[in-house]
Amino acid sequence: MTLLELQSVTAFYGPVQVLDGVSLSVPEGGAVGILGANGAGKTTTLRSISGTVRAGGRILYDGADIRGKRPEQVAAMGIAHVPEGRGGFGALTVRENLRIGAYLRRDRKGVESDIEFVLELFPNLRERYKSHASALSGGEQQMLAVGRAFMAKPRLLLLDEASLGLAPSTAMTVYDAIAKLRRESGIAMLVVEQNANLAFRLVDSATVLETGRNVLSGTSAELKGMDEIRRAYLGG
Ligand code: ATP
Repeated sequence: MTLLELQSVTAFYGPVQVLDGVSLSVPEGGAVGILGANGAGKTTTLRSISGTVRAGGRILYDGADIRGKRPEQVAAMGIAHVPEGRGGFGALTVRENLRIGAYLRRDRKGVESDIEFVLELFPNLRERYKSHASALSGGEQQMLAVGRAFMAKPRLLLLDEASLGLAPSTAMTVYDAIAKLRRESGIAMLVVEQNANLAFRLVDSATVLETGRNVLSGTSAELKGMDEIRRAYLGG
């Protein structure tokens, strides 16, 4: 079943059109990538879903058009956005950041067991549990951002460039941990990533954006085999 479907989504910053008919769909429990160069409109696509950018077209979530809803309404419907740059609360500890992610929940036992699940998945966070988030490494901060989003018990996670600023081996570790989170939780994911090789560790399929339009879509296996993908996004 389809969980999220974008139909010809458009968006402008002032007079400048940055999305010019983006379409994609994410199945329940599936993981889909949005690939493309700097400025192609990947971040704006996620922001149009989470309600931080006003969009045209249709954005169907669980069958209903959520376009025009406010960010807090979208979040309450089960869509969690992990923005580029992570957006953690540096002055708070790892523990406090995870609890903030769960602030709308009333199932205390569930929250405790989900914190334990996050710490199993990201052992670094267990070691740094009482540290301030600002003291964590870039990779740990990224894990914390994903862990905090998970604590809201979303059905759909929007993940923006989780590799930003990380060393290649750290980025791989982070992506593999997120892939494990996905397998074990069944949360659907829409993943923006410039590095296609990393994205393919996590997503089943992807769409490539160029100047606000889909130019290519396929399964990860199909895309990996394409010369133009290799040239443009795999650095080879
Ligand atoms: P990046 O990897 O750089 O984030 P992206 O594919 O995510 O690239 P977007 O961030 O969606 O691209 O940006 C699409 C276009 O919109 C770019 O040309 C960018 O310069 C422009 N843009 C982004 N944010 C704003 C803004 N707040 N005001 C005006 N223009 C913006």
